[in-house]
Amino acid sequence: MSRNFIIEEHDGKFFAPDGRRAFPFTCPNCGHEAYAAQSLLMDMGMNLGGGFCSKCETSLDLRMTPDLDGDSMDAFLRGGAP
Ligand SMILES: [Zn+2]
Repeated sequence: MSRNFIIEEHDGKFFAPDGRRAFPFTCPNCGHEAYAAQSLLMDMGMNLGGGFCSKCETSLDLRMTPDLDGDSMDAFLRGGAP
């Protein structure tokens, strides 16, 4: 996955160029707000994903966090997730 893919916004939801839903997350290392698309595992119902911060390039574990407005995404330093 590209680390700097273009995110489009439609009706308050974010999409990657390939049509996947994408979600904003805050980098736990530097605080930068970045975006990541849903992973294949998330599409299959497993709440596992990974990505990189587009600013500091830290490798991150990503988890979906269901909330009242839909889903959001939380990022954890790799290896530090419970
Ligand atoms: Zn970062």
